[in-house]
Amino acid sequence: MKVEKAIWGTEIPVREFAMSINGRRIASEHTDFAINPATEQPIAPFPLASRQHLDLAVESANAAFEVWRETGIAERRSALEKLADLIEQNYEAFLTLLTTEQGKPRAGAEWEIGGSIHWLREIGKQSLPDEVVRDDGENRVVTRYTPIGVIGGITPWNFPLLLAVWKIAPALMAGNTMVLKPSPYTPLCTLWFGELAQSVLPPGVLNVVSGGNELGQWMTEHPGIGKIAFTGSTATGKRVMQSAASNLKRLTLELGGNDPAIVLPDVDPEAIAQDLFWASFQNSSQFCVATKRLYVHEEIYDHVVAALVDYAKTVQVDNGLLVESQLGPLQNRMQYEKVSDLLQDSVAQGHRILLGGAPSDSVGYFIPITLIDNPPDDSRCVAEEAFGPVLPILKFKDVDEAIRRANSTEYGLAASVWSKDIEKAQAVARRLESGTVWINQIHVFGPDIAFGGHKQSGMGIENSLHGLSEYCNMQTIMERALPN
Ligand code: NAD
Repeated sequence: MKVEKAIWGTEIPVREFAMSINGRRIASEHTDFAINPATEQPIAPFPLASRQHLDLAVESANAAFEVWRETGIAERRSALEKLADLIEQNYEAFLTLLTTEQGKPRAGAEWEIGGSIHWLREIGKQSLPDEVVRDDGENRVVTRYTPIGVIGGITPWNFPLLLAVWKIAPALMAGNTMVLKPSPYTPLCTLWFGELAQSVLPPGVLNVVSGGNELGQWMTEHPGIGKIAFTGSTATGKRVMQSAASNLKRLTLELGGNDPAIVLPDVDPEAIAQDLFWASFQNSSQFCVATKRLYVHEEIYDHVVAALVDYAKTVQVDNGLLVESQLGPLQNRMQYEKVSDLLQDSVAQGHRILLGGAPSDSVGYFIPITLIDNPPDDSRCVAEEAFGPVLPILKFKDVDEAIRRANSTEYGLAASVWSKDIEKAQAVARRLESGTVWINQIHVFGPDIAFGGHKQSGMGIENSLHGLSEYCNMQTIMERALPN
């Protein structure tokens, strides 16, 4: 007898997704379909914006800027709180929609939707008051933070709503208006949020447009946009930087990573195996800050490997809408093929596959949890950002060697160090070339914690007052009294 598996989701809230331009629902004569990655079935059509749609969105955002820039902090904060309330009121529907279009199971969806609510409320409490930097009786010098104008937000498909909120909240709080473009793979949550947002924001303050990669390119070239806030791959980030040069747009680029974890010999392998597993496999490793290279000291290597394999065998990979599922599919066919190719390369190179390996040929973009035993440093599974559930475990002898190998990448997003000796771990952390280093923990973010990449993992910061300041121009006003 076949037993039906239990589903936790509700009905998908909307069937006809539209863009939001100047406060209105806008359809397009051209559409594409969002695909459920667990079933490969279309979920719903979404509009493909034309250049005219983008022009209209930028025009309305510029018009709205003239008014929004004059609003006070209290009004902006209240708007962000109302946006958070809208998500909260539709919490279950957002969870279902996110899992259906992105693939992540409920716990991951809760992290993302809950995080979106939290970020809107907390960034709403931030502000950058004028700073008096000199007042010596002769000169009074004040530094002010003024809004830039229209922000173009471009987001990827791994955390579609949360990464949009990371941009919307500081952009609007600083007095800017916005044109936001979600990834064509995961446009639905963002389009729906954009539509709901029109009930609490003046027309034109937040415009959401959808389309293919060319729409992103048009945005980065558009003379009416003052800054691009981009999250995506390093390759695309470089293209964004090139076309943003046309009108010297400000840029925040949150790009790829090949994050190392370094495990020192004093840890208890069984005690940290679960944390190490999720450090790598959370969101099916479609996480810019997933551990993508696990360096383990040779003294405990075999123990850590055994504990990881044991734990990994207990993890359920399935359609994220099923109650039992802990890891979902990859989000799209392109990524599925990329990771499959990486796996085939490992097999062809004769790497020892401890678990997983061959992608399943059943429906859905599922790749099994794969652990690879000490492949060479120059193998593709070590050198490339897999962005899928394939983890190379690498043996090291001494800490200097581990640090050198960890740093030998063009990326510098995040890293982690695991040790009972905090001082030792701190010493390692300070030598790692990455924007964030976690010690004995992973993936802790906060609206008050600066996040950004070193090297080719990006430029600029998201979150914290540093992040807020990136949505501002600095203006210095110097005054001197004239003699009576
Ligand atoms: P991607 O670069 O392919 O696409 C990102 C966005 O850019 C999408 O909205 C896409 O439509 C748009 N785009 C594509 N070509 C463009 C162009 N020429 N001009 C402007 N926009 C264009 O990235 P992806 O595959 O969606 O996301 C995965 C990547 O994102 C990984 O490399 C991952 O590490 C990175 N990422 C980084 C962070 C971070 O904070 N550093 C967070 C999440 C994901």
